[in-house]
Amino acid sequence: MTNVEKWVLNYPTKCYHCQKYADQIIEIYTNQAFVKCSNCGATRYYLIRKISVEEENILELEKNKKSKYDIWYLEKEATCYNCKKNGIQDILVTESKLIVRCRNCGFSRYYWFHMVSI
Ligand SMILES: [Zn+2]
Ligand SMILES: [Zn+2]
Repeated sequence: MTNVEKWVLNYPTKCYHCQKYADQIIEIYTNQAFVKCSNCGATRYYLIRKISVEEENILELEKNKKSKYDIWYLEKEATCYNCKKNGIQDILVTESKLIVRCRNCGFSRYYWFHMVSI
């Protein structure tokens, strides 16, 4: 079992800090996740809070919550920690949470916003 696996994704959008349209680099590790602006370097840190098997509607619920900022919705093909199948992992990023859910088995990781470093 490898704990050092890291997922890296890009989400081009307007940065909440520098206000420029730039790639936001999302790095997801087992215990933490980062979102870093490729233009100004402002970084949001998220820490793992909960691991559980969830119904598909948890992502819909988050998407329908009122939020000051846009909710980012991404997908990544990866091998699930739980069911060991290669499949789509849904990734949802808000200003307060980052959620990763396996579309196959529902295994979900919740990361909560921790701090910003600029
Ligand atoms: Zn920026
Ligand atoms: Zn799975």
